[in-house]
Amino acid sequence: MRRGRLSARLGLGFWLATGWILLVLLAALLADVLPLARYDETLAGPPRSGPSPAHPFGTDGLGRDVLSRVVHGARVSLGVGLGAVLLGLAIGAPLGLLAGYRRKAADAVIMALNDVAQAFPALVFALAVVAFAGANLRNVIIVLGVLGVPSWVRLVRGSTLTYAGREFVLAARVLGARDRRILWREVVPNVAVPASSYAFIGMAVVIVAEGSLAFLGLSVQAPTPTWGGLINEGRTIMEDAPNVVLAPSVVMFLTVLSFNLVGDRLRALTDVREIGLEPVRQAVAAVPAPTAPHPVRDCLLQAEDVRTHFVTPRGLVKAVDGVSFTLERGRTLAVVGESGSGKSMLIRSILGLLPGTAVRGGTVYLSGDDLTARSPAEMRSVLGPRLGTVFQDPMTALNPVRTIGAQVTEPLRVHLRMGRRQAREEAVRLLASVGIPDPARTLRRYPHQLSGGMRQRVTIAMALSCGPDVLFADEPTTALDVTIQDQVLRLLHRLREERDMAVVLVSHDLSVVARWADEVIVMYAGRVVERGPAAEVFGRPRMPYTEALLQAAPRLTDPAHHRLRVISGRPPDLADLPAGCAFRARCAYAGDRCATEPPPLTEVEGRAYACWHPLPSTETSLEGTHVDGR
Ligand code: SF4
Repeated sequence: MRRGRLSARLGLGFWLATGWILLVLLAALLADVLPLARYDETLAGPPRSGPSPAHPFGTDGLGRDVLSRVVHGARVSLGVGLGAVLLGLAIGAPLGLLAGYRRKAADAVIMALNDVAQAFPALVFALAVVAFAGANLRNVIIVLGVLGVPSWVRLVRGSTLTYAGREFVLAARVLGARDRRILWREVVPNVAVPASSYAFIGMAVVIVAEGSLAFLGLSVQAPTPTWGGLINEGRTIMEDAPNVVLAPSVVMFLTVLSFNLVGDRLRALTDVREIGLEPVRQAVAAVPAPTAPHPVRDCLLQAEDVRTHFVTPRGLVKAVDGVSFTLERGRTLAVVGESGSGKSMLIRSILGLLPGTAVRGGTVYLSGDDLTARSPAEMRSVLGPRLGTVFQDPMTALNPVRTIGAQVTEPLRVHLRMGRRQAREEAVRLLASVGIPDPARTLRRYPHQLSGGMRQRVTIAMALSCGPDVLFADEPTTALDVTIQDQVLRLLHRLREERDMAVVLVSHDLSVVARWADEVIVMYAGRVVERGPAAEVFGRPRMPYTEALLQAAPRLTDPAHHRLRVISGRPPDLADLPAGCAFRARCAYAGDRCATEPPPLTEVEGRAYACWHPLPSTETSLEGTHVDGR
């Protein structure tokens, strides 16, 4: 069924083109054993004769068999194509990987040189070099291969940029993998997919280029036939024997068309879409403000005045602005807010997984150890063994081209130094602990062969593999069905109890987290606007934004076909925050003071809220929403 759908998506043209390429390839490989006249045998038939049973493509001016010459010419054209593509790939791919993965200076230098190289008129350059160095197979391959390098650099860099921002790369980083390992295990296998489709298009380009050189007499020399050379030879007798020109022209045209078509269909099938994770370029340098003095508390996780800012051409974006909280072992902290409120960026700030352009401030302590003072290399010993992460979409958090077994065993082997067999046994145990049936078989499968719920269980198993103290779950149920959501949250809760770890649960959906959180912080426009015990915050919200979020949450008691409540208006532009309270334009309780003075986060009886006109501390009806704080 799946194979049938794939075949239909590729289309009949793809299969015809593939068939033609295979036919030409086979003919070229078997040219010496095929029952054909020798390509250089003169008077194999009457000169300039048309197609006949003995000579299907006719003969040329010297009576040589045109079919035999076209078949032998395919060897040169395909050989040059393959050699030049491999050479271009061998030089261009490492440069593209380096530019796309390292960014910064390496990217700037490589791409500047690449732009210069692309500015050269390619054919003129090829003509000059071949004419100077000599027209032979080796030189033609080298020249055409080198000319293809800029295109390879650009393609590989683009794909690397895209994949380097994917969640499975972030997940590998969270598990403490080194750059080299991430590059080879996570990025390269994925970049290979678009690269292989481009290789077909590259073959077509090189075949045309070689044909052009041969036509000008600057490729492999006679008597070895080449398609371009055959066309050139036939030019003078075209009026008497058009078949001498037509035969190699048609074969070359069909071959180039086929390579283009196959490459194009494969590219469409494996197209890499930008996912918007590429960081903004930094316009000017910025320095984070120093964090005010604070005591280091006796708790598992302490965030103090965490700030993550970006300098963009549109202004300073304060994605996270002064967030503080503490978290004890065995507790769950929910971080809630709308999309873009800074929840996920807060998690990345704590984990130290920010784009290079981010300006980070504040301090994060793990059992009193200042994580923000650690270098990226030092953080590797913390990411995975002490801090685990589960991402939103398990499909993107898992590398699609690696088996589940390879991905689950990797952190065990890297961090816990387990041997292959021991890591596999532990992986089976881990998968079983997160409720995956037949874990040994699952290890041999690929992510696309599992359901969404099973994939998320796999990512949870990976996050737990090194026994972290804190598990960060960033919207872990958003990509799942409602019934699966509950199973996953129950699983996280059970694992927290069993392992005595802390959980930071990020979600935009209060109905999802209300049941499982002990404490909650509500974020709006990068800031904490309400904080406190979950039962109190969800039961008696003091900040109008929290109340609006609760009212927008779907309830079990809502009637069928009930119109979902939404918060009116839109979140503010983080690059252009309004004066006063950032929620003012959407707030039904706003007063004059709200327009001029930003409300500070005020601590009142174990809770905190940022509002000039807080809601009365009476119970809010949350009928149908679980708020038991367990
Ligand atoms: S400070 Fe004013 S605008 Fe902001 S939430 Fe409170 S009442 Fe609404």
